[in-house]
This record gives sequence, structure tokens and C-alpha cells, in this order.
Amino acid sequence: MTIQEPKVVRVDSKRNQRTLAQQVDVAGFGFWSSQDVVYSFRPAESNSGIRFFRADLPSSQPIPARVEYRIEKPRQTSLVADGAQVDMVEHVLAALRAARVDNCNVVVTAPEAPGLDGSSVVFLNALLDAGTVEQECAKVTLQVVAPGSIPGLGGAPGAQIEIAPDEEGETYYEYNLVYDVPGAIPNQSASFVFSRSPRDFAREIAPCRTFLTLSEANELRKLGICRRVTEKDALVFDNGAPIDNPLRFDNECARHKLLDMIGDFALAPVDWIGRFKATKTGHQQNANAVRYLLNQVDWR
Ligand SMILES: [Zn+2]
Repeated sequence: MTIQEPKVVRVDSKRNQRTLAQQVDVAGFGFWSSQDVVYSFRPAESNSGIRFFRADLPSSQPIPARVEYRIEKPRQTSLVADGAQVDMVEHVLAALRAARVDNCNVVVTAPEAPGLDGSSVVFLNALLDAGTVEQECAKVTLQVVAPGSIPGLGGAPGAQIEIAPDEEGETYYEYNLVYDVPGAIPNQSASFVFSRSPRDFAREIAPCRTFLTLSEANELRKLGICRRVTEKDALVFDNGAPIDNPLRFDNECARHKLLDMIGDFALAPVDWIGRFKATKTGHQQNANAVRYLLNQVDWR
């Protein structure tokens, strides 16, 4: 038996790039660092992509939101360029992608993004309210042409990402959550046709919050991190249900993992067409999949 290699190719673009119509700011505090921060989203020129600028380190270089700049940090997406770093940017990137903002200068006053309610919805609504404008350059588009499971993902046993062509030319994401600690968080799945309108994403996926188990939360508190985060900010699960905080959807955790996945796939400056189905993956495995697929094509 031969195992089929999943494959993407570059195809004609379906649309032009977009940027914000105007600046919009989102303020809060970082969940991990407890630091107050403002993330200021500003229009940027064609082909500049998403770039972070550390206003608190004025001589630092911009940090491109691309997988080459990603470093390994537990439970989040961090990017580093020339010693300047931003943390916890996956929910920001998912919102920019959902709002179809391809070029944006994100000027930040501290490294870690505002945690807000642990979801993307505040970022996404701010971006949608600011509006976007079309630019002169086409958006690079990669399309899945051969199905298969992405090799070399790593991660927990059973972690995988399967991709397949989509006959309608849509972008479909699916996430299957299988938690290794029995009874901690119920197994669940979520899926979304991403090529639908950003308003659907804003209603169905963006409001889904980050989650952890009570024992994980206690560990973090013991280490003195996340000290400003309460059960009201993130979903803390004990015996299969969140403490003191009603779920927004029965499968909110799987929807949140889908949101994370979309943020991770936004580390490639391309539109994806195809079906992307992840099981038990985290940020690291999602990023490995993006690297594997980008290596197959000349996307620049
Ligand atoms: Zn997340």
C-alpha cells in the first residue's frame, strides 16, 4: 500500500488583497503576563502582510505574522524577529483572517495580545466595524489537489491533519477534540465553511473562548502566572463542565480549537481552498502543517 502525499498547488487568485479602511484599537491585559496592552490595527500597503510593531521597543524591527518567525511556546502562538517578540497572537490572527484583512500594521504597547474574554470576537467586531478597502495586488491562493494526512506533525498520539480537495472550491475546517484526561472535557467536534461571510464567523466561531482544566489552572496559579485571569475570563473545566461560567455553545471547546487552527493557518499569507480536518492538534502541529504545505509551492 502506498500512502498518498497530500498536495496543494498555486491557482489563479480569486480576489484582491484588502487592508483596513481606518485605524482601530483594542485594549486589555495579557492573560499570561497580566500586563495592560493596546493592540492598534492600522492600514498597510499591498503585499506587506500582517506585521507587528513593538511601540515599547521603538528601534525594533517589524515582526511578520508568518510561520518562519514562529517560536515554540506552550499553549500559544509567539513570533520573534530580531529579538522583538509578540505573544498569544493566534486569536488576533484568526480575527484578521476572518475579516479578510491581508495587510495590516499592528502597533502594540506590550508583547502579549489582550486576552479579553478568551475569544476573537472583540477583535473581529472591531475590525469589521473599521471596514476594509480593496487594494491593487491579487491575493495568493493555494488549493488542495490531492488528499492525505500531513506527515511529520508530531504532538500527542493520534494527532493528525487530513486535507482533501473541496469540490465546490470552498474552504472548510473541522476540528475533533479528544482530551487525554478522561472526563475532564467531553470529546467533541466542530466544523465551519470559512469561505462563508465574516458575519457568520463572528456569530458561530469567533465568540468561542479558550479553556483549560482546573488542575491546569491551579498549576499556572502556583507558578504565579495568569493571576488576573478568573473563571469569568476563561473556561475552567472541572468534572466535564466549566466552573461558574455558562457555555456559549455545547461544543464551544472544539469551536475554539477551530478558531486557533484558523489563526495558525493565517501564518501563511495565502488563501487556502480545500478541506482541512484536524484531530488532537495544538498550535505546534498546525504550524507544522502550514510549513509542510508552503514548502510545496512557490507562493512569493
Ligand atoms: Zn486559543
